[in-house]
Amino acid sequence: MSDLLKKIYNPESFRESGHHLVDLIADHLEKSLAQQVPVNNYILPDVQLEYWRNHSLENSSIEDFYKKLIADSIHLHHPKYMGHQISPPAPIASLSAMLTDILNNGMGIYEMGGPSTAIERVVIETIAQAIGYDNTSDGFLTSGGTLANLTALLTARAQIKDRHIWTEGNGTKKLALMVSEQAHYCVDRAARIMGLGTEGIIKVPVNEKYQIRTDLLEKHYEEAVAKGIEVFAVVGSACTTSTGSYDNLEILGEFAEKHQVWFHVDGAHGGAVVFSQKYRHLVKGVEKADSIIMDCHKMMMTPSVTTALIYKSGDASYSTFSQNANYLFEKEQDQEWYNLAKRTFECTKLMMGVKFYSIISTYGTQAIEEFVTVLYDKARTFSELVNDDPEFELATDPESNIVCYRLKGKGTAAEKLNDLNSSVRKAILDEGEFYIVQTVLDNKVYFRNTMMNPFTSKEDMLQLLEKLKLLAENN
Ligand SMILES: *Cc1c(COP(=O)(O)O)cnc(C)c1O
Repeated sequence: MSDLLKKIYNPESFRESGHHLVDLIADHLEKSLAQQVPVNNYILPDVQLEYWRNHSLENSSIEDFYKKLIADSIHLHHPKYMGHQISPPAPIASLSAMLTDILNNGMGIYEMGGPSTAIERVVIETIAQAIGYDNTSDGFLTSGGTLANLTALLTARAQIKDRHIWTEGNGTKKLALMVSEQAHYCVDRAARIMGLGTEGIIKVPVNEKYQIRTDLLEKHYEEAVAKGIEVFAVVGSACTTSTGSYDNLEILGEFAEKHQVWFHVDGAHGGAVVFSQKYRHLVKGVEKADSIIMDCHKMMMTPSVTTALIYKSGDASYSTFSQNANYLFEKEQDQEWYNLAKRTFECTKLMMGVKFYSIISTYGTQAIEEFVTVLYDKARTFSELVNDDPEFELATDPESNIVCYRLKGKGTAAEKLNDLNSSVRKAILDEGEFYIVQTVLDNKVYFRNTMMNPFTSKEDMLQLLEKLKLLAENN
């Protein structure tokens, strides 16, 4: 064996560089939480690429590399991070991630990850219980909400009785799913990947709170039927991505039951309220869902990506991919909960359950309850501050921890307001003191905050509003 390979796997050098790295990470956490560094150091993409193309560890150490990577990355643990909906991971979960990356058990089949397969099942049972499912439910973890939604919709399609689409293809059968026009774009993408085309995704308009208009469900359903289209699924958003609005799951559930279609809930962001006494009411009726997804990397403090896909009836989860892979599975037809690749897109899969498990087994599900409740409370505090300031207006009162609002512009012509809000948001990005994002609703540009950090204070929020006004004046 070469000396190089011996060096790569040397446990002693791992021990040493590992200790240094943990110190660096702890310093990073400390500085981010104390706001001693900017939340972001935005560098233009081509400049960034040029830097890393020319960078080489020959002239510097791995420690310098880590330091530069930390300095120029966006800092989710910074209280002035109020942007996209990704958790500042609980440090214990990130430590576990280091371990799982070394163990690297592939998880596709039981032999390739016994403990992590069982741990994943415990994680699923914990979430299923919080949803209110009984013990016939089952599911698994998968790589992100996008893939989880696609998987669930494939399961939904597999329930169609008069055509075995897995073997025969869609043929001339016209299928569609129903979803709100505010749903995450990945639902639209899933429908198209499934070959449903534009007609196969029926987008139901939303009300003034950006929730699906349940009064229009029957009308859209009947229109589809009249065109010879079979609706096979209805998807509820809990909550939507842009405004964090919760669809009425109770009514969607009743609608699905009446028409005997699959009811899927996209709870990627807001499904986690099942753990919050205070906010659980937002998903009333969720236990009616045939399937639901939740991103643990959004509202459950877990590193990306870790998504739960849970079925009300565990049996259904085995119908998604009814395919032979004899080299992996000895008994193809059996429902073996422990051979996960029978039911997941992934063959090799991350040991993602371990990260979530490390949080709940150390701190209890109380940790998730507090995280969700505290962040949803913060959005209410922030929206009150916005409401109290005559220079701003809200798109709608927040239901989740997402707040959309805009500058009204002192004397700015209505047609220039989008430019004003866009350029202020761009200035915020360039400056790096705060991180917020923007969205477009009814052709209007809005700032969009997701309160992702439990350490964001009212003072931080006030400072943000002052900063936005200042940037507007200097615009
Ligand atoms: C974030 C999000 C998704 C996509 O999940 P990823 O984990 O980013 O793939 C889907 N639906 C909703 C409602 C989301 O908020």
